[in-house]
Amino acid sequence: MSPGETALNRPLSTMPGIGPKRTAALEKLGLRMLGDLLLHLPRRYEDRRAVTPLAELKEGEIATIQAEVVSARNVRLHGRMSLAVLRLKDATGEIGATFFGRGFLANSTFAKGARGFFSGEVSQYKGLCLKNPEYELLTEEGDDPLHTGRIVPVYPLTEDLQQRLLRRLVWDALAESGPVPEVIPETLRGTHGFVPQREALGHLHFPASLDSAERARMQLAYQELLVLQVRLLRDRMHRRGEEPGNRHVINGPFLRALGHALPFQLTAAQEKVISEIFKDLVDARPMLRLIQGDVGSGKTIVAAHALAAAADGGYQSAMMAPTEILAEQHFRTLRDLLAPLNLRVELLSGSTGTAALRRSVATGDPHVVVGTHALFQEKVQFNNLGLIVVDEQHRFGVMQRERLRQKGSNPDILHMTATPIPRTLALTLYGGMDLSLLDELPPGRLPIKTARVPEGKVADLYRYLRDQSESGRQSYVVCPLIDISDTREMKSVLEHFADLESGPLAGVACGLLHGKLDAGEKDRVMGDFKEGRTKVLFSTTVIEVGLDVPAATIMVIEDAWQFGLTQLHQLRGRVGRGSEQSHCFLVGTPRTKEGRTRLDVLCRNNSGFDIAEEDLKLRGPGEFYGLRQAGLTDFKAADLLRDVRLLDQARRDAESILDRDPDLAHPEHQALAVLTGHQDAALA
Ligand code: ADP
Ligand code: MG
Repeated sequence: MSPGETALNRPLSTMPGIGPKRTAALEKLGLRMLGDLLLHLPRRYEDRRAVTPLAELKEGEIATIQAEVVSARNVRLHGRMSLAVLRLKDATGEIGATFFGRGFLANSTFAKGARGFFSGEVSQYKGLCLKNPEYELLTEEGDDPLHTGRIVPVYPLTEDLQQRLLRRLVWDALAESGPVPEVIPETLRGTHGFVPQREALGHLHFPASLDSAERARMQLAYQELLVLQVRLLRDRMHRRGEEPGNRHVINGPFLRALGHALPFQLTAAQEKVISEIFKDLVDARPMLRLIQGDVGSGKTIVAAHALAAAADGGYQSAMMAPTEILAEQHFRTLRDLLAPLNLRVELLSGSTGTAALRRSVATGDPHVVVGTHALFQEKVQFNNLGLIVVDEQHRFGVMQRERLRQKGSNPDILHMTATPIPRTLALTLYGGMDLSLLDELPPGRLPIKTARVPEGKVADLYRYLRDQSESGRQSYVVCPLIDISDTREMKSVLEHFADLESGPLAGVACGLLHGKLDAGEKDRVMGDFKEGRTKVLFSTTVIEVGLDVPAATIMVIEDAWQFGLTQLHQLRGRVGRGSEQSHCFLVGTPRTKEGRTRLDVLCRNNSGFDIAEEDLKLRGPGEFYGLRQAGLTDFKAADLLRDVRLLDQARRDAESILDRDPDLAHPEHQALAVLTGHQDAALA
C-alpha cells in the first residue's frame, strides 16, 4: 500500500473502542495503522454457516459446534497439571470438551450457561469429546452477525486480544479505508482475472466461500512477488546502467591456446555456459552471473575460459575458494592448464601471502591469483583486477564478496555453486543475477551407489575397504569431529584413524586430514592421496567442497545422520568423478526421525537439484540459504514452497513491465515505482 493515503495511515488508536491498552496489544502484532490491519491475514477460516448439531458428530472429524456450557470442572492431575472438563449441549444432544493444562478456564471463562463456538477434532474421553478445541464465546447482547452464520476469519492473536474484537476492527477498517491504491497494473489484473485490491482484501477477510478466500490470497501473494521481482530487476538495471565495466577479448591468443590445450571435449552444457559468460564479458556492463552446477559437473574448466579471456583483455583476475585445500587444488589445476600457455598463475592463501608475492600482484605481474579469503585482506592490492571468480559462493558472506569486488573497478563477477538452489529460491535470492545452469555431467559417469550401513555391519565394511585398497582403489572416511568429544556421541577422526590404522586397516596406507593441521601438512597429506600413495584418507568435513580426486571411488561417512542433507550430497560428490563405479556408505543408526529421512533421501536421489528440493521441504524456506537473514521471508500472503507458479508468472510480468517502461513512469506503474524505488539489492 502506498504511503500518503490518509485513510490507510490512520492510527488504530483513533478507532472507536481502542484505548491505550488495546493499542499496545495491537502493536505487539505489528498493527499500528489501518492499512496494517487490512494486511493482517487470517491464519485460517471457520465455516460457521454449517455448525454441526451435536447429535451428528463423529469421532475423528474436525467440526465446529455452537453450544451452551452445562458444567465446567477444574480437575487436578498428577503434579501441577490441571484439566478443564466441560459438558456442552445444544438442542440435539451433549458432548464433552477438555482443555489440558488449562484447568483455570473452568473457573475464569466457562460459566454455566455461557454460549459459544467450539471447534476441533472429535475424539473419545468418557464419551465423545472435543480435545483442546478453539473456542469463542458469544456475548450477552446476543449474536453479532459478524461472527455467526458465515465463514469467519480466525486471526493470529496475542494474549490481550480477542478474535471478536480483531474481527470487528478489520470489518470497520475495510469500511473506512476508502480507495486502496492498486499495485498490480490494470492490464495485468485483466489478464490474470484479478479483482480490484480493495475487493480482494474484502474476500480475504470475509469470504463468501473458501475458494474465493484462496483466490484473494493468491492475488495478494502474486502482488508481493511482483513487487519483489520488479525491485530485484530494477536493482540490476541500476547497477548496470551506472557502472561501465570492462570489455574483455574473446578471440585472443590465450583463449585460443586454451581451446587447443583442453584435456577433454567440453560437454554441451559447458559450451553453453561458456558462451553465456562470453556474451557478458564482451559487453561493457559488468557481469554478475551465477553458475549452478551439480558436484562434478566441471565448473573449474568453465571458469578457466573466463580467466583466459580476462588475460587476453589485459586484466588480472582473482579466483576465490572457501578453504585452503580447495584454493591449493585450483591453483595446481589452473597452473598445469594455463602456465604452458604463458599465463602466470599464483596462489595467495593465508600461508603464502608473502610481501614479495603481494608486491608482484600489485604491479600486475600474475594474470591469475588464486586464493582463499586472504585475497580480500586490506594489504592485498591488484594492478587492474577485471574479473573475479568466486567458487562455492554460498560459503562466503555478502560482505566478503563485496570487499573483493572493491579491489577492482567494476570487475566482472562470476559466482559458482555446487549447492543448487531450487528455482523458486534462485529467483528470489539471486533475482538480481543472471543464472547459468550446468545441467550435464561429463560423459561416462556412473551414478554413485549409496547404501546405509548399520552398526552391526561396520566390520564387513572395513574388510571391504581393505580389499579394495589392496586392489588399488582409494577411499575417504569422513567423521563429524576432529577430537574425542565429552559426550562421545560422535566419532572423532583422530580416534577412528588410530583404531582402524592399528586394527582392521593395519598395513594399508592411510592419511589423516583435518582443519587443525598447518597448511604445509595439509598439502602433504592431500598430495599423497592425490598421487595414490595413500589409499584411505581419514578426514573431517574439510574435504566437503570442491575436492577433485577422480581416482577415489569410495566414500564412507561415519555418523552420517548428523550431517545436513546438502552437506551429505557434497561429501558424496567427492567420489563418482571418474568413469569407475563409485560407492557411498552411510554409517550409523539415526537417532532422530529427521536424520533417518535425510539418509533415505540421499539413498534415493543422485541429483543435487532433487536433493535441494527435498532439503527445502525438510527445513523450510526460512532456514534455507540464509533467506531469513536476507529479509526475504517477510511475505504476508506468498509461500515460496507453494507459489512456484505465481513466482514464475510474477518474474515474467516484472520483466515485461520493465521492458516497456524501465523508469516506471507510466501512471499504471506508479505504485510499483513507489514500492520499489529505494535501493535494496537483496543479496545479489
Ligand atoms: P565441479 O567443480 O563442478 O564439482 P570440477 O571442475 O572439479 O567439477 O570437475 C570434475 C572433474 O571432471 C575434474 O576431474 C575435471 O577434470 C573433469 N571434467 C570436467 N569437464 C569434463 C569434461 N567435459 N569431460 C571429461 N571430464 C571433465
Ligand atoms: Mg568445484
